[in-house]
Formats: sequence, structure tokens, C-alpha cells
Amino acid sequence: MLKIIAVAWLLLFIGDFLSTFIYHVPEHIFGSLHLKTHHSSKKEFRHYAILMLNHQVLLDGLLGAAPYLLVAVLLWSFSPVGVFSGLLFGQFHVWWRHTNVMNWQTPKFVTFLCQILFITTPEQHWLHHQKTNAGYGDIFTFFDQPAKVWLRWLRLLRLHLRYSQVEPE
Ligand SMILES: [Zn+2]
Ligand SMILES: [Zn+2]
Repeated sequence: MLKIIAVAWLLLFIGDFLSTFIYHVPEHIFGSLHLKTHHSSKKEFRHYAILMLNHQVLLDGLLGAAPYLLVAVLLWSFSPVGVFSGLLFGQFHVWWRHTNVMNWQTPKFVTFLCQILFITTPEQHWLHHQKTNAGYGDIFTFFDQPAKVWLRWLRLLRLHLRYSQVEPE
């Protein structure tokens, strides 16, 4: 049982880490797909939480989920049940963290539990939808601070790249 929980947690931890630092933050700086699909003006719940048959929304969802699937393959031999539990929790969390769009409110004791476990609540994730420099870490809140640092570095890098392009020889 402990092994199942450990594998499920590791999958979410490494998956969220890779997804945040390799896809989500760089995409905010260098891309436009995620901004267009995930941060566009208030859409309904279905749009954010369920992969609709719109190829751009689908692509953003798949790119964000790819790291989790990669970790799932790597952890498979340790505990297939753990891998499944982790993926299920991850999918559940995608739905749950977008319930704010439907004006749901997280019960106080759930918010408290999330604080102890460092899990991102729908309220915290909704901050990210409104302000792209807040509320990072789709699943875990401890990725929020390092993600902001990463965001600043990449922003500087983008500035540098643009500047060096316009600078005459
Ligand atoms: Zn979202
Ligand atoms: Zn985002």
C-alpha cells in the first residue's frame, strides 16, 4: 500500500515538475498556444477541464500531460497500480481545479487539507487564469515560487534574444 502511494505521489511530483518547468512556464514566455487556449477570456468549465475536440485545446492539454505519461512509463515496473492511481488523481485534479469557473467554492476543511499536503486548490489555480505570473504548480503549490523565478529568467532571456536580433553588427 505504501509503495502504491509512493509511486502515485512520485508520478505527480515529477510530472508536475517537468510539466511546469519544461512546458508551462516556457510556453508562457515563448509560445502563444497555451495563452490562447487556457487563459483566454472566461470560458466555461468544459473548455478548460475536458479536452474538447478543438485541435488547439487538445494539443495544449496533450503537451501538458506528456511529462506525466513519460514518468508513468518509467515508474510502471515499480507499481502499475501506483501509476494508475497517480494518473487518475491527476485527471481528477484537472477537473477539480477548474470547478471555480462554475462558481463552486472549496470547503474550508478541504482547503486546510490541501495546505498541509501542498496541493493547489481551485482558488489558487484560478489566480493563474487571471494573472499569468501567479498560481503556478498545477498540482503542487511548492512549485509556485521556483516557477516564478524561472519565469523571470526566461523573460530576461527573451528580452536578450530580441535585443541581440535588432542590434546592428
Ligand atoms: Zn487551468
Ligand atoms: Zn498558464
